[in-house]
Amino acid sequence: MQAFGFEVRAQDGKARRGIIRTARGEIRTPAFMPVGTAATVKAMMPDSVRETGADILLGNTYHLMLRPTAERIDRLGGLHKFMNWERPILTDSGGFQVMSLAALRKLTERGVTFKSHIDGSKHEITPERSMEIQRLLGSDIVMCFDECPALPADRAVIAESMRLSMRWAQRSRDAFGDRPGHALFGIQQGGLEEDFRAESAAALTDIGFDGYAVGGLAVGEGQAAMFGCLDFAADQLPEDKPRYLMGVGKPDDIVGAVKRGIDMMDCVLPSRSGRTGQVFTRRGVLNIKNARHMDDPRALDEDCRCPACRQYSRAYLHHVFRSQEIISSMLLTWHNMTYYQDLMQEMRDAIAEQRFAAWEAAFHAGRAEGDIPPL
Ligand SMILES: [Zn+2]
Repeated sequence: MQAFGFEVRAQDGKARRGIIRTARGEIRTPAFMPVGTAATVKAMMPDSVRETGADILLGNTYHLMLRPTAERIDRLGGLHKFMNWERPILTDSGGFQVMSLAALRKLTERGVTFKSHIDGSKHEITPERSMEIQRLLGSDIVMCFDECPALPADRAVIAESMRLSMRWAQRSRDAFGDRPGHALFGIQQGGLEEDFRAESAAALTDIGFDGYAVGGLAVGEGQAAMFGCLDFAADQLPEDKPRYLMGVGKPDDIVGAVKRGIDMMDCVLPSRSGRTGQVFTRRGVLNIKNARHMDDPRALDEDCRCPACRQYSRAYLHHVFRSQEIISSMLLTWHNMTYYQDLMQEMRDAIAEQRFAAWEAAFHAGRAEGDIPPL
């Protein structure tokens, strides 16, 4: 079995291009991971997701443990077989979504108890239970169970929360055990505070993980604050391990994170936006429900390789969106996923060719132009 590993192959400024090796295949970095919350990337078949260029998907522990349950997925052969995706899967720990979705949460040293947002049933996640669930799912990259306060918060609250997460990181490491071919990532916390981020990074490095995530960002602090934090947070994490920024983000968030040394990201934005009619192109964002598209025979983006752009007009995409046809979500998600994966490929190429700064300037200039003028 291929052991888990990471290799940086090129660096331009802080931006890195590399390869993560897993038992289920290689992941080209910087990597964007589409989110398959309930064992599906909504509105897309797995083969199509792969065609867009995705090497790895993210699955959500919280959703899957509630429905259909991790035990059932295990009995049915694991998450890869269950959802027909043979390549790597990263699962989150469930912690963040308990905090954002569940009712009647109670946090103690032991873990979190909560009521399901689906049927009100009572559940508990501890670091040990999170490791067990992620093992039952068959996840290739497992995340430590952690906790993060909503920002802004007092320094004392941030420190207390971060130190609890570090104790849970040790318990996650102990419970994960020795699983060749599978990786466990630690999650740095500490809000926007440089000293707490450093303390957290040191605690995690001491325990030792296969990769390190920057947690607790993209929770409403704004892009400038997030970049300000990443300016030091990414540097505090080991250079020879993948760095993962959780839950990010918009295209310009992703570019700014890669520029600051991040290797992996995930976000629901390309798929969720696909269902609400928001379309990402190299000229920024457009909304397909706008009446200006009603008679427009042109492609969403004439340079895009996706089926929505190659085979359909803006007029058609506008019509099926307004008619609430299922193909609307399928095509717009496909386009947005293609845009995100092409963005990652462009960055990987620019880093390899030592022209990331010029590429980034062109990226921002293209977005500043705005959508093509109406006919
Ligand atoms: Zn397209």
